[in-house]
Amino acid sequence: MVTTSNPVDLHSHSTYSDGVLDPIDVAKRAAHNQVKLWSLTDHDEVSGLDEAEKTATDLGMTFIPGVEISSSWGGKTVHIVGLGIDRHNQQLIDGLARIRNQRLGRGKKIAAKLEQLGVENAYEGAIKYASNPRLVSRTHFARYLLEAGYCENMQEVFNRYLGDDKPGNVRIHWSTLEEAVSWILAAGGRAVIAHPGRYTFNKMQADAFFDEFIQLGGTAIEVLTGSHRPEQCNYYADVARKYGFLASTGSDFHAPKESRIDLGGLPPLPDDLTPVWHDWFESA
Ligand code: AMP
Ligand code: MN
Ligand code: MN
Ligand code: MN
Repeated sequence: MVTTSNPVDLHSHSTYSDGVLDPIDVAKRAAHNQVKLWSLTDHDEVSGLDEAEKTATDLGMTFIPGVEISSSWGGKTVHIVGLGIDRHNQQLIDGLARIRNQRLGRGKKIAAKLEQLGVENAYEGAIKYASNPRLVSRTHFARYLLEAGYCENMQEVFNRYLGDDKPGNVRIHWSTLEEAVSWILAAGGRAVIAHPGRYTFNKMQADAFFDEFIQLGGTAIEVLTGSHRPEQCNYYADVARKYGFLASTGSDFHAPKESRIDLGGLPPLPDDLTPVWHDWFESA
């Protein structure tokens, strides 16, 4: 795990989605790592935010309620982070429930595909890891494949079985980009493109994606994320300048032994970018 230090971390996961620590322990780890402004952004789920906020506040951090919404654009899955959301907004709650309701059926289909590929008992194996039964994710399947000895590490699991174009994946049309952004805006939040370097769009598609995101009311992009290599951070800093995006930063922490970057472990944003938290937190 690479460790530098950044007092802001606006992307992380708990046991309410595919992280391995409960929200209280994620909060404690963030505080221990000197994070001052922190957001929990579980996939398609806001149920962990109350616990996270209480611990964060007790430990002297400023807490930003967040969520990472599974969405689709251009035939590919994209993730849109919502920051500063009202977790009680009905439109957001209903939208997230609709996404989650697709997950169990999709999990069964993933298990069937894995079985054809010679992986046994994947459904039961994955469910064991899914502490929130409403949120079975590829990450839970990946943990089972590791435990059962089918692969040596996470990267191998996604490269061989579960990556977007790999034979064990099942693509779902989770939500449209328009829906994801509109739910976030309805809940008073800011919409942020998560880990843009992970999407396999060509330049023209990426430009169209950014344009449409802005038209829909999206305002921010993750420049620094645990998913980016250093050259991608520079590239997306330029994208933020070109499109006038607010810039975000977040480790995308899931688990001490899996995540490349720990909570608060990213370098600072370039000085000339306007942080997405500019009016939420003074001293960072
Ligand atoms: P799902 O929402 O079920 O499609 O699962 C997506 C999750 O799988 C992401 O949030 C990541 O946590 C994990 N993931 C996807 N691709 C990779 C990868 N290449 N390496 C490690 N984890 C990945
Ligand atoms: Mn995840
Ligand atoms: Mn993501
Ligand atoms: Mn994430």
